[in-house]
Amino acid sequence: MIRLALLLLAGALAFAQAPFGLVVHGGAGSVTAQRYPPPADKPYRDGLERALAAGYAILEKGGSAVDAVEAAVRVLEEDPHFNAGIGATVTRAGTHELDAAIMDGATLKAGAVAGLQHVKSPIGLARLVMDRTPHVLLIGEGAEAFARSQGLEPVPNTFFRTPAQWEAYQKAHKPVTRDTVGAVALDRKGNLAAATSTGGMLDKLPGRVGDAPLIGAGTYADNRTCAVSCTGWGEFFIRAAVAHDVSARMEYKGDALAKAAADALDKATRMGGPGGLIALDAQGHYTLPFTTPGMFRAVRLSTGVHEVKLFGGA
Ligand code: ASP
Repeated sequence: MIRLALLLLAGALAFAQAPFGLVVHGGAGSVTAQRYPPPADKPYRDGLERALAAGYAILEKGGSAVDAVEAAVRVLEEDPHFNAGIGATVTRAGTHELDAAIMDGATLKAGAVAGLQHVKSPIGLARLVMDRTPHVLLIGEGAEAFARSQGLEPVPNTFFRTPAQWEAYQKAHKPVTRDTVGAVALDRKGNLAAATSTGGMLDKLPGRVGDAPLIGAGTYADNRTCAVSCTGWGEFFIRAAVAHDVSARMEYKGDALAKAAADALDKATRMGGPGGLIALDAQGHYTLPFTTPGMFRAVRLSTGVHEVKLFGGA
């Protein structure tokens, strides 16, 4: 009897002390103090804080890492300052095409969507693909039909348009990266998850799919290694399989998280594709490397870490 009580107590203590938390990003790119001087930086910092709060509240109550990353990314999709959901980039044809993916590190199940034009929350639909279909990736019209079959109300494509993205589109002469969003989380049970959502590159050709919805390229999670969400020039992140490369370096080489992430990112950058990523491991270590001038990023862990940063040091 006493042994059982002690065991239960030890279990409860371990649950209470196990680190948990999440990291979010709002994209890497020409994020500099000159471009975002106060108070222009405030809506970005506030948006990242809101995403952290949404995910952290779920983790604190004992909710899952998958629920936390979905909730955090939904907040950023609804925020017009970031290139995901409302505020998505404009394609060369003047439309919006959205991509997203989510992965559960406990089961290695994943769901993803690409080329959406009428689904309010791409990450929400990616979650439904993971939970309610035998598939991993649904695209275009088939994905839209699946969304309707799940009771999601279609929105007009202009729902995603913001004056800032429209102006950027009118000035754009070539495809450029624009502030994808993502989240990685560790829950109290030690499970990891990753989620990424984006409008993709500004001025992309219609039909172009980036790294964000491709499992192993822009998004990956495995409880045995880490959870990763990438941002940057997607074509290079696809070719370098960056998100899975971080996990593979940990699994095959025994690299620590920070080294694995830096080396995987360096590979994509040397190939010609700068960017950044956020990654978290099952012990609560995190890393936020980027090879661009800045990256919108924020961390909140049960160990007390709580920070929001946009540029090199701040
Ligand atoms: N990785 C995204 C894409 O290529 C863009 C970005 O992160 O800025 O679609």
